[in-house]
Amino acid sequence: MAFKLTDYEAYDFANRRHIGPTPKEMADMLKVIGFKTLDELIDATVPPAIRQKEPLDWGDALTERDALYHMREVAGQNKVLTSLIGQGYYGTTTPAPILRNILENPAWYTAYTPYQPEISQGRLEALLNFQTMVSDLTGMDIANASLLDEATAAAEAMAMAKRAGKSKSNASAFFVDQNCHPQTIEVIRTRAAPLGVDVTVADPAELEPGAYFGAIFQYPGTYGHVRDFSAEIAALHEHKGLAIVAADILSLALLKSPGEMGADIAIGSTQRFGVPMGYGGPHAAYMATTDKLKRAMPGRIIGVSIDDRGNKAYRLALQTREQHIRREKANSNVCTAQALLAVMASMYGVYHGPDGIKAIAQSVHRKAARLAIGLEEAGFSVEPEVFFDTITVEVGPLQETVMQAAVQQGINLRRVGTTKVGISLDEQTRSETLEAVWAAFGISRKDIRPEVPPYRLPDAMLRESAYMTHPIFHKNRAEAEMTRYMRRLADRDLALDRAMIPLGSCTMKLNATVEMIPVTWPEFANLHPFVPEDQALGYKYMIDDLSDKLCQITGYDAISMQPNSGAQGEYAGLLTIRNYHASKGQGHRNICLIPTSAHGTNPATAQMVGYKVVPVKSDDDGNIDVADFRAKAEKHSKDLAGCMITYPSTHGVFEETVQEVCQITHDHGGQVYIDGANMNAMVGVSRPGDIGGDVSHLNLHKTFCIPHGGGGPGMGPIGVKSHLTDYLPGHPELNQAIGPVSAAPYGSPSILPVSWAYVLLMGGAGLTQATKVAILNANYIAARLKDAYPILYTSSSGRIAHECILDTRPLSEQGNITVDDVAKRLIDSGFHAPTMSWPVAGTLMVEPTESEPKDELDRFCDAMLSIRAEAQAVIDGKIDADNNPLKNAPHTVRDLVGDWDRPYTREQACFPPGALGVDKYWSPVNRVDNVYGDRNLVCTCPPMSDYEDEA
Ligand SMILES: *Cc1c(COP(=O)(O)O)cnc(C)c1O
Repeated sequence: MAFKLTDYEAYDFANRRHIGPTPKEMADMLKVIGFKTLDELIDATVPPAIRQKEPLDWGDALTERDALYHMREVAGQNKVLTSLIGQGYYGTTTPAPILRNILENPAWYTAYTPYQPEISQGRLEALLNFQTMVSDLTGMDIANASLLDEATAAAEAMAMAKRAGKSKSNASAFFVDQNCHPQTIEVIRTRAAPLGVDVTVADPAELEPGAYFGAIFQYPGTYGHVRDFSAEIAALHEHKGLAIVAADILSLALLKSPGEMGADIAIGSTQRFGVPMGYGGPHAAYMATTDKLKRAMPGRIIGVSIDDRGNKAYRLALQTREQHIRREKANSNVCTAQALLAVMASMYGVYHGPDGIKAIAQSVHRKAARLAIGLEEAGFSVEPEVFFDTITVEVGPLQETVMQAAVQQGINLRRVGTTKVGISLDEQTRSETLEAVWAAFGISRKDIRPEVPPYRLPDAMLRESAYMTHPIFHKNRAEAEMTRYMRRLADRDLALDRAMIPLGSCTMKLNATVEMIPVTWPEFANLHPFVPEDQALGYKYMIDDLSDKLCQITGYDAISMQPNSGAQGEYAGLLTIRNYHASKGQGHRNICLIPTSAHGTNPATAQMVGYKVVPVKSDDDGNIDVADFRAKAEKHSKDLAGCMITYPSTHGVFEETVQEVCQITHDHGGQVYIDGANMNAMVGVSRPGDIGGDVSHLNLHKTFCIPHGGGGPGMGPIGVKSHLTDYLPGHPELNQAIGPVSAAPYGSPSILPVSWAYVLLMGGAGLTQATKVAILNANYIAARLKDAYPILYTSSSGRIAHECILDTRPLSEQGNITVDDVAKRLIDSGFHAPTMSWPVAGTLMVEPTESEPKDELDRFCDAMLSIRAEAQAVIDGKIDADNNPLKNAPHTVRDLVGDWDRPYTREQACFPPGALGVDKYWSPVNRVDNVYGDRNLVCTCPPMSDYEDEA
C-alpha cells in the first residue's frame, strides 16, 4: 500500500481531506527545508533504531460514505431502551438550539482551553454562567468550571478535604455515606489507597464525627433517600472535620441546598442538564466550595478581571494552584476537564431559567410520586417514604421476572440487591413510560394526573432560597434571542474553524465533521452506562476494534478505555504499575524519575499514587541527561517504581537515547511510563511499546481527532504490555477485582466514534502519511522562522519532530518585548498563540499538525516574521519602547474609535500580515490583566449594573 505522492482518488479522505498540503505544495516545502522527498526527511529525522519494523495495515481505508455506513451498522447493534436505572445518569432532553448551535457547532467544539483570554471571551462567559448556576443551586460561594465525572469529583473532594483540613488526629480516616452511588464509593476507594486514607462506608447515623478528617454524604441517595445532613455536618465541624455533599443538580431546584446544610464542598454531575448519557460520558461534573477553601479547590476556575481599558474581561483565575506551576504540589492533576459539556449545561440553565428548571424538577417528582402510588396501591412496598425522583421497590423472588418484563416493555430498571428494583424518573418520562413500568410489575393501570399533584418531598427540606437570580438566566428565553446569544459568544472566540491553533504538545488538528456525525446518533448518545451487555454490542464492537488498532499503533498488548483525560490516563497507568509492583511483593517501590521538562500533570499524578518525584535534568541540547538519569536510578535502585518520560520529548526532538533510558529503568526493576501526548509524531513510524515503554496514555483528543471542546472533553486510554494487563483498572459493573478510576466502565465512550472514524477513514497508510506530514509542516515552519527566532532544540541531524520551540527571549533581553507581547500581537493577525512559556519559560512552542494547508502555514510565518520586524524596530530605538504595536496588542475597535496618539498607524495596528482583510478577527477586549483578577477574585457573573456602567 505504498503512498503515491503525485496522484490521489476523489474520495481519498486521508490525502484530500485530512492532510492539509497538496503533493505539489509538499514538494515546494521540502525544497525550502532542503530535502528531495518526504521519506528522506523522515529518515533524517527519526532515528533508525526506533523505526517501526512493519507498516500499519488493517486493510483499505474507508471512504466517508463507507465509514458512515459501517458505523451505522455497528451503532445498530446497540439497543436504545428507556433507561430508568438512575445511579447518576438520567434521561434528558438536549434543547434543539443547544444541540445544533453548541454541540454540533465547530465554533464551540474546536476551541482550545481558554489560556489566552482575549480570544476566549465567549466560552469564558458561558463557563462563568456555569459556575454561577452551580454556586446558586448548591448554595456555595464559588464553583469551578467542571471536573471529569461525579465519582472523580468526589475523590478530588476527599483529597481536597485532606489537604485543607485542620483535623490533626484523624488525618487519614474518611467517612463515606453508604448511600453514595456504588461507582462513587469505588473510585473514592481507588484514590484513597495510595494516599494512605482509610475509608469507612456506613450509614451516616453511625458517623463518629471525631474519627474522620472528612465525610461525604449524598442526597438523593443512590436508592432515593432524601436526608438533611445539617446535624452530621455540624458535628464534623466541631471536630474540625470537613463535610462534602454529593447532590443531584436537578433536585436542588426543590430541596434545601448543601450550602444551607453547612457543607464545605458540594459535588455532583450536571449530566441531566441537557447532556445525553452517552453510555457513561462525557458530561460535566461540578464542584463548589466555600470562600475559605477556594484556593484548595482543584480544576479550572473562571474569574472576572479587567482589560487595559479597565473594561470587564474574563480569564482563568488562580492558576498558580495548578499542575503547570505547582507540579507535584498542585491541588490535583486535572488538566483537560469537560468544558464543552459545562457550556451545554450552562446553556440549558440559560434556556430554561430558574422557573423552567423548577418546573422540570417538579414534573419529575410528580411522575415519581404517581409511579409510587400506583405500585403501593397494587400492594408493593416502596422505599423511601420521601423522595425526589428515585424509588426502590421490594419484589422478593420476582426481581428477575420484573427486570425482564420491563425490558420486554422497552425499559431498563435497576437491580438492587437480590430482592429489589430501583426506578429513577427524568425529564423524558411520559405517561406511557409509567404505564409500561406498572405493566412490568403486573399492574394494569392508566396514568391519570390527579387535580392536586401528589407530593412526596420532605417538608423540612423544601428549598426556600432563590437561585439563578442573575439577569443572564432571565433573558434569552425566546429562541431568537437564545440563538443570537450563543452566536455572539461564539463570535468572540478564535477556534479551529477560523484559524490554525499551533499549540505545541496540544495537537490541535482537524476534527472532521464526518467523524463528529455519529456522536449524536441516538444509538451512541442515549445509552445508560450500566445497561445489560446485550444492549451495547455496537459499543463493544467499536471499543474492541479501536483498541485493537490502537494496540497495533502503539505496540502494546491491551488498552483500557477507562481514563477520560490524559492526566487520568497517567493516573491509571501509574496505578497499574503500582498494582504490579505490589503483586511481586515490591510494594515499597515508590520513586518516580521525571525529567524537569515534563508536563505538569506527570509529577502531579505521581504524587497522587503516593510516589516520590525525583527530577532528572536535561542537557544543553534539551535531551534527558542520561548520566544524571543513571545516577538517580542507581541511587534509588531498591525503591525505583519507574520513570515518566515523554516521546518525542517535550522539547520536540526524537531523543536518540530513549532506549537506553528505558533499559536503565528496567535494569533497576522500574517500569517505564511513556507519556503519549506526542503520538502525533509517531503513529505508523515508531511505537512506544517497541522502544521500551511498559505503559502509555494516548490523548485521543489530541492525536486521534476528538475536538478539544474549549477545555474538554477528552479520552486518555492507556496501553500496556502483557505483563501489566491483569493490573489495569477494573469496574464493579464489570465484576473486576481492581478498582475503577472513572465513574463509567469506558470513561467517556460516546466520543470514541470520533477516533474510530478517524482510524477507519485514514487506514494504516493514511495515518503514517499524516505523521510524516506533521513532521514536514513543523520542519517547514522551523525552516522559515529559524533566522528570526532561534529554534531552541534540534536533533543531532538538525531536525525537529512535529513541533519546535521558538526562542523569544532575545527580544525580551534586547527590547523588553516579552513572549506575551508576541502572543497578543498574533491575535491582531487572527491567530491563537502557540503554547507559551512551556516547557521553557519565555519561549513559544509551535505545532502545526498535518491538517494545516501550506497557505495557512505561510500566513502564520508571515505574521511571526512581521512581529520580529516590529520587535527589531523597538530594539533599534526606531519606535517607542512602551507605545508600539506589540505592547498595545491586541488592538480592538475601541482603540480605533478613540484618540490615536500612537507612533504607528491604525492600518499597521489592525491589519498586520496575516489579518484577513474583511474577514479579520477582532479581539473583543484589550489585553487582560491577570493579576488584577486574582487580587479581586470574582467567579460568578458580575451584577447587571456592571454591564450598564460599561455601556
Ligand atoms: C496534554 C498533555 C497531558 C495531559 O492531558 P490532559 O488530557 O489535558 O489531561 C499530559 N502530558 C502532555 C505532554 C500533554 O501534552
